[in-house]
Amino acid sequence: MAVIESEVKVTEEVHQNNTNTTIVNIEDKITPKKCVEIARKAYETGRTRSLTFRRTQLKNLQKMYEDTQEEMVEALKKDLKKPRQESYMSEIDVVQNDLRNLLFNFNEYTKPEYPNKDQTQFFDTPMIYKEPYGVVLIIGAWNYPFLVTVLPIAGAIAAGNCIIIKPSEIAPASAQYISRNIPKYLDKDCYQVYNGGVAETTELLKEKFDYIFFTGSTPIGKIIQNAAAKNLTPTTLELGGKCPVYIDESVDMELTTKRIIWGKCLNLGQTCVGPDYILCSEKTQEEFISWTKRILTEFYGDNLKISPDLARIATNRHFNRLVSLLNNCNIALGGNIDSNERFISPTIVTNVKLTDPIMQDEIFGPILPIITVRSKEDAVNIINSKEKPLALYIFSKNSMTVDYILNATSSGGVIINDVVVHVTCDNLPFGGVGDSGIGVYHGRKSFDTFTHKKSVLKRNFCPISEMLYKLRYPPYSDRKTRFVSFLTQKRRRIFGKFFLYISVYILGVLMGFLIQYFV
Ligand code: NAD
Repeated sequence: MAVIESEVKVTEEVHQNNTNTTIVNIEDKITPKKCVEIARKAYETGRTRSLTFRRTQLKNLQKMYEDTQEEMVEALKKDLKKPRQESYMSEIDVVQNDLRNLLFNFNEYTKPEYPNKDQTQFFDTPMIYKEPYGVVLIIGAWNYPFLVTVLPIAGAIAAGNCIIIKPSEIAPASAQYISRNIPKYLDKDCYQVYNGGVAETTELLKEKFDYIFFTGSTPIGKIIQNAAAKNLTPTTLELGGKCPVYIDESVDMELTTKRIIWGKCLNLGQTCVGPDYILCSEKTQEEFISWTKRILTEFYGDNLKISPDLARIATNRHFNRLVSLLNNCNIALGGNIDSNERFISPTIVTNVKLTDPIMQDEIFGPILPIITVRSKEDAVNIINSKEKPLALYIFSKNSMTVDYILNATSSGGVIINDVVVHVTCDNLPFGGVGDSGIGVYHGRKSFDTFTHKKSVLKRNFCPISEMLYKLRYPPYSDRKTRFVSFLTQKRRRIFGKFFLYISVYILGVLMGFLIQYFV
């Protein structure tokens, strides 16, 4: 099969890192239709069904990560001026660990599951068989261009799918890295990279996929869902939203501020689970602002703009949107901007009203509004007046407060006394709810997301089993009806599996005899 490689040329402008959004020139040699055709043919050969093949591809992906870390760091620097440590923490180490997890548990994840039997299945074998969906489309976002693209790729490979990968055009150096390296390390027909912007994604979406995994904003998520609906294609939508932070007066204010400011400044606020706004009392607000001043200097020095530990806003469009959000705001701290560098210093905004533009959509930048509330109930009312967030952060030492907020709100995830770090826990499924998304991944869930769980019930032709099975055949009778009702009635498991099996066995044999004599 011919090698299919999308050539992406990054314009000079992009190298200077101060451009607008349409920054990838595409010289694709093949159409989306052809891409999907090739992937489908490859899928039909059955090679992705082989566990050895999948394991080899995962190991190759791991090798790509080992061999090319510096390339990744460089690409992230070009696209976002992402600090080296942030690149490792959020784009390299997390993905490598997820890959390790998939490989360590590969046999466990891929083998069929045997659920507990109930009393009617004594002679049967119920099992859940794992099968791939087929050809899947993975559409990435730009803010964590490797994390949100390679992590789902790993899950889809482990599950045995073929993949069309669409990296974000807004992080062109990262997109270029992906289109350069994926074909080098992975099977070229099964896993193809298709580059482009809105027009190319729209073309791609005209094709029929067996699964679509999308990371991006809520409005575009709706477009993806509509396109998928035409073919009844299942989707995972990893979207954004406004992630609230509630702080009560019981907390250690220095540590609380440190954790929130770290999470807010990560990738200069361009993080889907970044803290979006704070809800706290007036007293806490004062303390928070005063601690923030000290902590920003501790983290980034006196001149924030020259700190190598703060990233930059990705594009002029995003920069201008953020600057316009600051119009008519009461800036309590920060507010320094430099359009040449697309830099906005971490900024705290106070006296914020719920109707202000800054409280309408996800901020996705280093601006942090504070809304003062009188109680946890007030905070919950505000949280619930908005769409369900991707993450909710509760800072409190009071377990009653934490339980109250946990029970009274709905969000993709929650962290108590910290922010953002749940993304790195591969034992916690990651995803949104309502407007913040549909479906989860990370760890085992990355495998499950790309797997169709096929229910299989195996029966035999043994005459003893048939004594039970035959109760359903006509001619029907009241006595048979009573037997069937009795046998199929759900029973609580009191003494565990072993006892249940023995009783079911005795019951089965007894029933067999009774049926033999009386029916
Ligand atoms: P986006 O929705 O603008 O774009 C995402 C992808 O969709 C891109 O690849 C783009 O080419 C494509 N696209 C854009 N417009 C399209 C259209 N009209 N039709 C078809 N395809 C289109 O998102 P973004 O700006 O790349 O990323 C930022 C958003 O992603 C934020 O809202 C953030 O919260 C969210 N995000 C979520 C997660 C998560 O895991 N939940 C992770 C990262 C980012």
